[in-house]
Amino acid sequence: MKRYGIFSCGHKDYIEINSKNSWKYDTEEKIKEHFEDNVCDKCRKERKEKLRNQEYEKALKNALKQELPELKGSEKQIRWAMTIREEIMSECKTIGFAKRTESIINKLSFSDNEDEYRLSRKLARKENKEDIVKEAYYNVFYNNTSSRMYIEDTLFDEVKKELFKLVYKEKFEQKEEMKMEIKKEATVVPSGNIADSREIEVYSKDDTVYIKSFMNETLRLISRDYGFVWNSQLKLWEKKIKEMQGNISDRIADVSNAFLNKGFIVVINDSIAREKAINGTYEAEHRRWIDFDNELLIVIHERNDNIYKSSRKIKGSKWDGNLKVVTVPLTSYLELEDLANKFDFRYTARAKKEIEMKITSLSDVIKEIEVGIEKKYKNKVSEEAVFDSLKDEE
Ligand SMILES: [Zn+2]
Repeated sequence: MKRYGIFSCGHKDYIEINSKNSWKYDTEEKIKEHFEDNVCDKCRKERKEKLRNQEYEKALKNALKQELPELKGSEKQIRWAMTIREEIMSECKTIGFAKRTESIINKLSFSDNEDEYRLSRKLARKENKEDIVKEAYYNVFYNNTSSRMYIEDTLFDEVKKELFKLVYKEKFEQKEEMKMEIKKEATVVPSGNIADSREIEVYSKDDTVYIKSFMNETLRLISRDYGFVWNSQLKLWEKKIKEMQGNISDRIADVSNAFLNKGFIVVINDSIAREKAINGTYEAEHRRWIDFDNELLIVIHERNDNIYKSSRKIKGSKWDGNLKVVTVPLTSYLELEDLANKFDFRYTARAKKEIEMKITSLSDVIKEIEVGIEKKYKNKVSEEAVFDSLKDEE
């Protein structure tokens, strides 16, 4: 049922009376009062809008005065978030931080999270706890520019993060200081001209040496020359260290030494490798090896025509186009030994073992032949002896 009347704003409008609200309007007196105490719908909306605008204008004015950062978000979000921020900040000012500190400590002490519980105990014992809470709030007000934080009411989570930082400040600072000191100790700066102010890091994990560096053609060429391969997933240069590559600290040292000689700053955490890189006291990587794989001896060396030609003169030698090496059958191990001695090759443990086995089996064959010869000879001798004794009896 619609009841028309004049509202206090002077506009004619109606109220809808139904079963739900009829108890409020059960007398003519009450209906009259309603019209006198209220404004019409249109005026109410207008007033609300005006109030909202006033609040925003006030927030904007105060934000400028206090040099608060501009918030991020859509225009509507920003207007709303600024009003909320203004409200919280003015409440902080009027109430102060004593009460707020108390309620924060209380809230955290009931937290299921052990770190938060500890934070509450630690904060409670601080003499300047109210200042700490104030600083935490102001850090968020001044550093966090997300509108959503105010609208979705996640301000307290951010304040909590700040509190952790502030309460454990000394610990954080100590940690950072230690990190800096360790890094400083591990950083080797070349003595001559510096090619780039950025650092290269050379380190190992398990059996692999890694180079972490920025894009630079000189660095790329050195890394490649030292047998490193670009790992596009890890965005690192890597090199597996096996028997032929030698010692891990030597491999960290020689590539680092090459970087230093070109004027690059290198971070080497391994102190032994660092010493070696600085003083050049590493054992150079041996590049010439005789290995064994797939029933064949393999001749591994840097590009060298002289070695290649000599190796191809060995009986049974072949060029393996896939592996880009010359292979030699085990039976030619003696010829290969001459080449190895002449050009300073080393044998891998596997190659050594296979050659020894070959020598043993060859000497077994020789022994067998020798035993056979001996047997035949003995038989002959004994036959002769028998023959002789027969002769004696004659
Ligand atoms: Zn009105």
